[in-house]
Amino acid sequence: MSVAEKTLSQQAIDLENKYGAHNYHPLPVVLSRGEGVYVWDVDGKKYYDFLSAYSAVNQGHCHPKIVGAMTNQAQTLTLTSRAFYNDMLGKYEKYASEYFNFDKLLPMNTGAEAVETALKICRRWAYEKKGISENEAQIIVCENNFHGRTTTIISFSNDQVARKNFGPYTQGFIKVEYDNLEALESALKSNNNIAGFLVEPIQGEAGVYVPSDGYLTAAKALCEQYNVLFIADEVQTGIARTGRLLATCGNCTCENKDCSGTPEVKPDILILGKALSGGVYPVSAVLANDPIMNVITPGSHGSTFGGNPIAGAVAMAALDVVKEEGLAENADRLGKLFRSELNKYIENSDICTLVRGRGLLNAIVINDSEESDTAWNICLRLRDNGLLAKPTHGNIIRFAPPLVMNEEELMDCVSIIINTLKEFE
Ligand SMILES: *Cc1c(COP(=O)(O)O)cnc(C)c1O
Repeated sequence: MSVAEKTLSQQAIDLENKYGAHNYHPLPVVLSRGEGVYVWDVDGKKYYDFLSAYSAVNQGHCHPKIVGAMTNQAQTLTLTSRAFYNDMLGKYEKYASEYFNFDKLLPMNTGAEAVETALKICRRWAYEKKGISENEAQIIVCENNFHGRTTTIISFSNDQVARKNFGPYTQGFIKVEYDNLEALESALKSNNNIAGFLVEPIQGEAGVYVPSDGYLTAAKALCEQYNVLFIADEVQTGIARTGRLLATCGNCTCENKDCSGTPEVKPDILILGKALSGGVYPVSAVLANDPIMNVITPGSHGSTFGGNPIAGAVAMAALDVVKEEGLAENADRLGKLFRSELNKYIENSDICTLVRGRGLLNAIVINDSEESDTAWNICLRLRDNGLLAKPTHGNIIRFAPPLVMNEEELMDCVSIIINTLKEFE
């Protein structure tokens, strides 16, 4: 086929294949526009976005308030570096610290950088506050975790695809089973050099695994007992995704009074990213109280872009939208509806065995082996039927639409999903 005969989609795909490193395996759809819960491909076909850029676009695509804050700031001052002060960063740090009820915020750009930052803070705290001997600190992590792609982070991943031939790996991590308090306690008991426990309140990438009720609270209590920092990676679960402002939703200022389910936990270190900017700009952050955050001193950590004025303006607008539009409440309500509608279908389904999740972070389990391509094929058919989603692991499909969805749209999506699944029964 000559270039002129190729479809616009195929041209875009071919360009990425030829000139881009092959570090992803995208669903074959080429998007060129987004608004709210919808995206459009290069041929003008409209889809419901049920991935939301891995829960970065909680506030909906191209939210006018967030885009407005960004363009306004972009025309005023974009980057100063932290060599100088800028008039936006302090405002943003105050706003976000009060919003999440912590003393201080450390601004970074991507989720992985924020996780790295949290690990560095935790190690410093271990040596300077807890009194662990230098280079001896250990951090407990969970099996099947996903915390990003840096060399240190993949060192404690057990995803072989993410790790293979990227060694040698960073030392100082102990892995325990997720949602297993005994495993956590025995790791804490057997070693005096434990500095922290890094955990996702729900394991998103692993396939939306929701821990047992009370797990996080009990894990936090164990951390207190052993003087170990409880570090919550809420990069994916945070910012209203799970039907509350944070999935750990401790002592925060969340307005949602009806977020029943998991009890409240206040992390010692909170890691945010993704929807902190509503998906318009890379903004991540680490929050902690002074006794912990003050181990960071001038020169000990930094980022050229971290804390830039655009990021500050964007994040404040994105957090405003979450409150103004009641996104936590909406995610809570629509999530319950989504699971109950899918459960009705699953009762009599052979292809789909389970729906699980919290708020609008959900997944279904397809009745086939992890190696099968059934889930992938279902996602291709969902695409044809106007809804975009992607398998997480083999036979699991994650469903995470923007939180600005309304009930009518959600019910429309439920019928697209069920009708598509019926084609595979
Ligand atoms: C996406 C994600 C990260 C990494 O964020 P990046 O911005 O891709 O570096 C870290 N932790 C969790 C839980 C995530 O979902």
